[in-house]
Amino acid sequence: MSLYQKIKSAITVRQVGEMYGMEPDRHGMVCCPFHSDNHPSMMLNESYYYCFACGANGDAIDLTAKLFDLNPRQAAEKLIHDFGLDPDKPPANAIALPPPKRGLTDEQWADIAYCLRVLTDYLDLLHDWRERYKPTTPEEPLDERFVEALHMTETVEHLTDCVAFGTPQQKAAAAARLLSGSYLLMLEERTDRLALAKCA
Ligand SMILES: [Zn+2]
Repeated sequence: MSLYQKIKSAITVRQVGEMYGMEPDRHGMVCCPFHSDNHPSMMLNESYYYCFACGANGDAIDLTAKLFDLNPRQAAEKLIHDFGLDPDKPPANAIALPPPKRGLTDEQWADIAYCLRVLTDYLDLLHDWRERYKPTTPEEPLDERFVEALHMTETVEHLTDCVAFGTPQQKAAAAARLLSGSYLLMLEERTDRLALAKCA
């Protein structure tokens, strides 16, 4: 096992983000440090990070290197120091050993990222509607967007959790389930149309 592999098997990208001051929300999303981001666009995962806005992505070593302007070797040394890792010991002795990772294909990771993007876009809308269209007086008829937000938020949060958490295999299975129907596609078309309408 190479030094880089040892480090990556001992710590997750999410732990690296947290170590260096990022505060992932319950979906693992943080504000991206690599572009001007005032709304969390970057997903921190076990083995990689990905920014849905600027496309920045990589593993734990890449993240550290980019954050501190280091080369990969220096980034590895910084991680070993900051996490108290002993590169000469097998990973079982390293702190915070994540469950063994069995690899997914690039396509599976792409499916997971796609599902999360569609779901979180829709969730953003729902959260927005819940505030923007809430009735101000008891007599006011309920806005249908407010009603949709009330009905859908929990379901969509649950779906997002299924794709965002668990082992890579569980996430891939959840993404495959979502993609096997037309639900996600409908959601994407709808969210895109609504986003356009909002801009107009
Ligand atoms: Zn970014």
